[in-house]
Amino acid sequence: MALTDHRYEKLTWEEIDEAAGEETLILVPVGSTEDHGPHLPLDVDQRLPSSVCEAVAEQRDDTLMLSTLTQGYLPHHMDMPGGITIRWETFVNYVIDIGVSLAHHGFKRILFVNGHGSNQHLLEQATRQVNLQYPDVRCAMLSWWELEEVKETLRTERTAGPEGVGHAGEMETAMYLYLAPDEVKMDKAVRDVNAPDNRYFHNVDFAGENREEDSTAVTMMPWWTTFSETGVMGDATAATVEFGEALFTSAVDGLDAVLDGFAAYPLRPIEDKHGRDVSDEEYDPFRPR
Ligand SMILES: [Zn+2]
Repeated sequence: MALTDHRYEKLTWEEIDEAAGEETLILVPVGSTEDHGPHLPLDVDQRLPSSVCEAVAEQRDDTLMLSTLTQGYLPHHMDMPGGITIRWETFVNYVIDIGVSLAHHGFKRILFVNGHGSNQHLLEQATRQVNLQYPDVRCAMLSWWELEEVKETLRTERTAGPEGVGHAGEMETAMYLYLAPDEVKMDKAVRDVNAPDNRYFHNVDFAGENREEDSTAVTMMPWWTTFSETGVMGDATAATVEFGEALFTSAVDGLDAVLDGFAAYPLRPIEDKHGRDVSDEEYDPFRPR
């Protein structure tokens, strides 16, 4: 079956009906509208995953991309101007509803591709719920910087050091520079590494590469301006177009490879191992309400 377009919304209902089923993969980019330092627009977390998904969906003949979910969860950024934050329950329910709608139409393999750190734990929760409600569907999520190919590019080509690749730092700035150089104000780019110096806190690096003295990374997300002066966490001044191109290319290759793996993932049915009938009209663990 040939897809007439890689954009989900461009198909007719008859074409969608024909595309639905085990063979077609669905990509859903998810981002946010949020401050990214004095040098980048608010749409960084939407544009990066969206561009990667677009390139991958375009080059495959088995993948449809839904339009980007542009708003995310960022209450801790509301001390900076511009952000649009969605309450966590609303965000989780919105993502579940999208997954469930796709599952209802017959799509079996759905991947949310995230570009905003604080959406991550909520997307994990939402995608789990889709799998529980539709046991024959596999709904998954990943943040684009988690792709092994991206991590490898970060490990080998970053120049700003372990503290340089946080929010709006070397990585995101470089990628945006590659995608839209005219929209980045590099004369306003800064190095902001003002988080409290503590070996257990704020030592989370996008590439998993921390300072030698850093230890266990404790998860904690206080208000943004308590650990960043400019909105940046990292070194935006180190970003180059070449590094951005390398990141983008490795993200596209990495996501393409993940989709090959996803297409091959078997859709095994549930096998109830109880020795007695445990069906209960009031409570069905596979369809939580
Ligand atoms: Zn970002």
